[in-house]
Amino acid sequence: MVCRDVMDRLSPFVDDELDPVTSRDVARHVETCSSCAAELAMQRELQESLKRDVEYHRAPDLLRERVMRDLRAATRREAVPARPAAQPWRWLSAAAAVIAVAGGAWIVTTLPRDGGNEAAAREAVSSHVRSLQASHLTDVASTDQHTVKPWFNGKLDFSPPVTDFASADYPLVGGRLDYVQGHPVAALVYMHRKHVINVFVWPASGAREELAPAVTQRGYHVIRVAHAGMAYWVVSDLNPQELAAFARMLAAPAPTP
Ligand SMILES: [Zn+2]
Repeated sequence: MVCRDVMDRLSPFVDDELDPVTSRDVARHVETCSSCAAELAMQRELQESLKRDVEYHRAPDLLRERVMRDLRAATRREAVPARPAAQPWRWLSAAAAVIAVAGGAWIVTTLPRDGGNEAAAREAVSSHVRSLQASHLTDVASTDQHTVKPWFNGKLDFSPPVTDFASADYPLVGGRLDYVQGHPVAALVYMHRKHVINVFVWPASGAREELAPAVTQRGYHVIRVAHAGMAYWVVSDLNPQELAAFARMLAAPAPTP
């Protein structure tokens, strides 16, 4: 395993999300490679401190989310026998995995060469980290897209699309106002397992439809999406494959019931 492969896997390695063989390969590599070992130590430290912060400050939110999810699962079991709505996401995730393996180009986790994208990714990561550290993850804490979307009324001069992806295990947990490149933007907060995902949204009229490959900054992954006249920056410490699957849902949201 070369350094680049190891760097790409440090985040899931720290979270114990790798398969045993890959995990062992990463562990072996860092025993003999000081630069990867240093990066690993930094990520461990950062994730530990973020986890402490997030768990301490957001415990009520996370707990409520867990309860909501259990409730939803229970309701699902009791209600209709099959849920066709859940199928496209499963298909999407599978498709994403295939693309990730076959295409490779989707999941590029090196820094972009041009400074513009790198600066943009750095800013997105800074906003993400700030939202976790300042215990200011959400201004409006709700799993209901019909609560979160109107909350932005009057606070922004545009109306961000807000979709809950709980059925695909990416539940919406809330939203807040944030600033990107000096402009107020909508920040939508999602969870996937214990990972926080920030989605920064603002209008980009006339922008070409785009789903940029993930770039990595300080152990966080950033994916840019342009869809239906809106720009999205998706930031998380979640592994790039699952984050790309999530970004793809943003680019093609399900019709809201
Ligand atoms: Zn190395």
